[in-house]
Amino acid sequence: MSANHKNSFEHSLVIGEKTFSGLIEDTVPVWPQMYEVLYAYETGENGALIEAINKLKKVNDGLNADDLQKIHEDHFCNADMLNVSEDIGTRISDEILKIIAAMDTAGQRSDECDAALTKIKTKFPSVKTPEQLHGVVEILSGITKAIADNNKSLTSKLQQSSQQIDVLHKDLEQARNESNTDALTGLANRKKFDSGLRSALDALEEDKAPLTLLLVDIDFFKKFNDTYGHQTGDQILRLVAHTLRKGLKGRDLPTRYGGEEFAIILPGTTSDNALIVADQIRETIAAKELIKRSTGENLGHVTISIGIAQACEGDSPSRLIERSDKALYEAKDTGRNRCVIAPAAS
Ligand code: GH3
Ligand code: MG
Ligand code: MG
Repeated sequence: MSANHKNSFEHSLVIGEKTFSGLIEDTVPVWPQMYEVLYAYETGENGALIEAINKLKKVNDGLNADDLQKIHEDHFCNADMLNVSEDIGTRISDEILKIIAAMDTAGQRSDECDAALTKIKTKFPSVKTPEQLHGVVEILSGITKAIADNNKSLTSKLQQSSQQIDVLHKDLEQARNESNTDALTGLANRKKFDSGLRSALDALEEDKAPLTLLLVDIDFFKKFNDTYGHQTGDQILRLVAHTLRKGLKGRDLPTRYGGEEFAIILPGTTSDNALIVADQIRETIAAKELIKRSTGENLGHVTISIGIAQACEGDSPSRLIERSDKALYEAKDTGRNRCVIAPAAS
């Protein structure tokens, strides 16, 4: 190991230990994103993040999972999106500069027209002869042509810029969608889930409509991967995603929570009604006979287990997820291929 590597190894170890102690001290779960946030804090390199955490420490007398999750979203998840927005933002400013330049030219042309009119006034204070009249008409027709040419070029430049801005808006929209989408399954990704759950819980406080969260986990997926290969495993993930999409409607939000786990936000739905939806999805997946496309081999069946928890007033995202997760583990412990409703929050 080179001295440099050794130094960075030892340095990272010190920071890693501090990070763990911090998480343990505040009893924050040692999830990767919590670790990432506190590790960045301990390195002392990210001023904005340090300021945000110090503020929270003061206000809350410590740190908690929800606050750190929010900081993770603000400081890490959006980094790619920010780069894209910055690029598109620069392109939009370029277009605006072009419009301003075109307007400027138009302004200069109109100054030229003013100068020509002044020339008429000084050169021909009164028109008495046909020659004088001819001279005025010549100058005026020159001005008219210049104005017409100028308008034409301004209109075409503005049209070009407006088309370009339309393209940029579409690019921005696409980038926004991509940053919220899981590339493998096409479902909303974890980032979208986090923001979707937060807004659903905020809405619950306002409209008091029920809200239920489902956590879906594929049963024995590791064995499936080990037996048939990762690529076939990926096909199963797509199949599950497709079944979720087809089995849901309206404001329901199916997302890929991570790995072989999916989370579904069901606004306006009680846990009893969510159980009906969840069971339908579970049965649809269990009934599918899996055939490997490339070889026609019959791979049997795959099943899923689902944990269901209804949100209560004042619930935080992590508390609701924790209850769904407990229900999911009960479904696993009691035989898999099952849906379990978490008891109402106390
Ligand atoms: P359980 O019924 O208890 O959930 O068992 P399991 O085997 O499904 O659970 P475990 O957590 O042990 O394994 C999850 C597996 O999911 C491990 C990993 O190989 C697989 N996995 C996670 N993400 C992906 C992915 O993107 N593609 C594929 N093909 N497999 C993945
Ligand atoms: Mg799992
Ligand atoms: Mg699993």
